[in-house]
Amino acid sequence: MKIKTKLTLGIGTLFLMVFSLAALSGWYIHQLKKDTDRILTTNYNSLLYARNMLVSLEAYAEDDRAVLRFQDNLIQQQRNITEAGEKEKTADIAARFEEMKQGSADQILRSSIRKDITDLMQMNIEAIARKSGIAGQTAKDAIISIAIVGTVCFVIAFTLLLNLPSNIADPVRKLTESIRQIARQNYRERVHILGSSEFAELASSFNTMAEKLEEYAESQLDDILQNKRRIEALVENMSDPVIGADENRTVIFANEQATKILGLSQSALLGKPVSELTLHNDLLRDLFKDISSPSAGEEFSSTLKIFADGRQSYFEKEVVDINVVPTGENELKYIGQVIMLKNITPFKEMDLAKTNFIGTVSHEFKTPIAAIQMGIQLLQNDRVGKLNDEQKYLIHGIKEDSDRLRNITAELLNIAQVESGAIKLNIHDNEVKPMLEYAIKANQVAADQKQLSLHVSVDADVNKVLADNEKTAWVLTNLISNAIRYSHENAAIEIHVEKQGTRIRFEVKDYGQGIDSKYKERIFERYFRVPGARSGGTGLGLSISKEFIEGQGGEIAVDSELGSGSSFFFYLKEAK
Ligand code: ADP
Repeated sequence: MKIKTKLTLGIGTLFLMVFSLAALSGWYIHQLKKDTDRILTTNYNSLLYARNMLVSLEAYAEDDRAVLRFQDNLIQQQRNITEAGEKEKTADIAARFEEMKQGSADQILRSSIRKDITDLMQMNIEAIARKSGIAGQTAKDAIISIAIVGTVCFVIAFTLLLNLPSNIADPVRKLTESIRQIARQNYRERVHILGSSEFAELASSFNTMAEKLEEYAESQLDDILQNKRRIEALVENMSDPVIGADENRTVIFANEQATKILGLSQSALLGKPVSELTLHNDLLRDLFKDISSPSAGEEFSSTLKIFADGRQSYFEKEVVDINVVPTGENELKYIGQVIMLKNITPFKEMDLAKTNFIGTVSHEFKTPIAAIQMGIQLLQNDRVGKLNDEQKYLIHGIKEDSDRLRNITAELLNIAQVESGAIKLNIHDNEVKPMLEYAIKANQVAADQKQLSLHVSVDADVNKVLADNEKTAWVLTNLISNAIRYSHENAAIEIHVEKQGTRIRFEVKDYGQGIDSKYKERIFERYFRVPGARSGGTGLGLSISKEFIEGQGGEIAVDSELGSGSSFFFYLKEAK
């Protein structure tokens, strides 16, 4: 049955019951009123007339008006005949009264009139008693009928009270619960409401919707599963090891390369808490060392030395926090971390080979250069033979070049030493200007090729600097060479030296392409090159510069804005 019909019937029944109760009560009250009215208007009035007639009869002899009063009441009584025999009695009274009026006023006639009136009164008193009995019976009937109808109404109303609200509320509750299930993505939920009510229709529409959602979710799930498999295959086939952990630091994936270097199978890794795994695996401990969860929003990277593929390998560790915005929310939520290991062994090996090569070459150069210089010295000696001016000039030129060659060889050896981890510093009081001149001279040709103008300024209060002359000059050379390399043509490069407290600040400023802020720290790492930077570099220059400067107790940093240029600067102690 429809809800509307149910409600109409329920409320209609209640209305009908109220109406019937009211009608029944009204009817009985009316009946009772009729009974009492009958007593009042008929019998009570007859009693009143009879009494008045009696009083008038007593005063008949003394008072003339008594006759009139008697007659008046008699006429009223004649009009108010209601009981059986009352008419005859009234007629008797009237006949005797006529007699009395004719003049026979004897006692016998009077007493017979009195008796008739008393009979009339008795007749009406009996009628009153009878009628009040009827009224009492009507009242009883009323109580019984109203009680019966009232009880029936109560039972019906109580049944409605018990059933009607639950009849409406139960399906609503069922539907609400099912909608909640759907919201929890339980698309298998169905509502079963039988009948032809609106709720049954609603339930059937709900079921259709749930079915469609289920279909949709399944098709979506299929897509998602396929995408998941694709991504898994991608991660699995990556040549670098990748490990993923969720927000509770439980390993959720690890590709084949990762399992290989860790020496653990996937089943030993997946679903296990990192804290438990690190207890038995040193490499995992190293991998997760220093990584907080989440890593405070910073990308994290460092170099690790791992024994893999049967040899010593080098990996660059990169930790990336995974943050997503959950559906229906606005804020990013941390859901885990991915640790990627980039195999940099080939670069390391190349670098080592280069270092060794540089070391060997520069070492090998030392002897012939020393021989050349010895030869020059001999040539300059008058004992060997006198040189003319032109020859002297030429020999002087050869000596300068051989000196430069010797210095370069020494620098190359320095680089080799730095890279092999053994820097030898030679810190003394040094003039700033010769260092600058050396660095500028070494870069002049490159600067000229790009029509760059080098502006050098040294503040007047700059004295000597406490530094390793060669290495500081090397750093300056490297910074200027970078500035030239990353400047646009016809630009200016400013080289400025100033005193700041007890330190000397060297600055090389260019107006070239600049450096993205996220790479500012990383450019000082070995082999790091800004992605997309022009090729030709090794990514070593700045890291060697940093080692040279920090080795001397100094500090090196960069200020840069992408597109506007960079300013590299370093501080060294002022000589006392
Ligand atoms: P490279 O031999 O590649 O120049 P460096 O260690 O000297 O190696 O520099 C590291 C990276 O820093 C470079 O690849 C380049 O992207 C960036 N870089 C260095 N100097 C500058 C500069 N003056 N302007 C812009 N980028 C620079």
